Amino acid sequence: MKKELLIRRSILAWFRKNKRDLPWRKTGDPYAVWLSEIMLQQTRVETVIPYYNRFLKAYPTVHHLAGANEDHVLKLWEGLGYYRRALNLHQTAKIVAKDYEGVFPGTVDELQALPGIGRYTAGAIASIAFGVRAPVLDGNVKRVLSRLYAVKERIDRSDVLKRLWQIAGELVSPRSPGNFNQGIMELGARICLPQNPLCGGCPVKQCCEAFLHHCPQNFPVQKAKKTLPHYEVVAAAIYKRGRFLLGKRPPGGMLGGLWEFPGGKVEAGETHEQALKREIMEEMGIGIEIGEHVLTVDHGYSHYTVSIHLYRCSHIDGRPRALYHSEIKWTPKSQFNRYSFPAANIKFFEHL
Ligand code: SF4
Repeated sequence: MKKELLIRRSILAWFRKNKRDLPWRKTGDPYAVWLSEIMLQQTRVETVIPYYNRFLKAYPTVHHLAGANEDHVLKLWEGLGYYRRALNLHQTAKIVAKDYEGVFPGTVDELQALPGIGRYTAGAIASIAFGVRAPVLDGNVKRVLSRLYAVKERIDRSDVLKRLWQIAGELVSPRSPGNFNQGIMELGARICLPQNPLCGGCPVKQCCEAFLHHCPQNFPVQKAKKTLPHYEVVAAAIYKRGRFLLGKRPPGGMLGGLWEFPGGKVEAGETHEQALKREIMEEMGIGIEIGEHVLTVDHGYSHYTVSIHLYRCSHIDGRPRALYHSEIKWTPKSQFNRYSFPAANIKFFEHL
């Protein structure tokens, strides 16, 4: 039997028997499939399940989500990370509700035109919800294919990616594209693990070149990881008459739409005090007096790491203005739970 056919049949049979009982597998509703696929981007299945259930309860249809308040959407997303996904989700819901009368488009091209939907997500939605024979290529699938075909070149090269997309496209089952795509992703997540793949229980080991040559650990070939840059950041808990001055980060940037204690990077040669006074003047146009150091939180993002030093501060002069943030607000601590904050800021709450 041809290798492609053998892989396809083996993965489909394995998936039928071994698929996990996940909430989004109980529905064919494109809205729910889309929601799950956006949440699953760079996020583990176990983490996504409670968020998925809460979102569907709060917004059972695309119209509910389209009509939701942005702060509520971000609040429900809090802790899931990569917040741009939540803003794109909200934006896409509005487009589908308005331009498509609430009915998700079913082709890869139309799906890819929506915010937050790339080639991979479009393929996943089209195949799972609409039965379109479209491939998917996420990190798991890249690893599985690079081992099945012993791809010796770096998989971040554009020509290699093009080849992997082509192989993925040839493998997808014409009859059950959604099951095949979910099967190969699940195989990568549970059997063809990055370290120590469980080849003994793998349904495609008989046609896996890496396994047959005893070297799955040599694939995929990747470029050496760079050390991430680190930044020192200062933040101000500016307090006045029972309320803290918070800012909502501007849309479009990192952590856009989330609320935070204002502050920013410490520049070379600056003390924490100088950096904080400069940042607050630049961001809010006010003078502050800096009090005690509250807490330092270390946090890692995908492209850099930070140490955020929070200081208690009092407002000295000037009327606060939103010079950087899209909105600013004096807020009592008892109302912090109404807004969504970056994970690093949440760690400060109990120390205030
Ligand atoms: Fe991955 Fe091993 Fe299966 Fe090959 S045989 S696809 S390396 S788990």
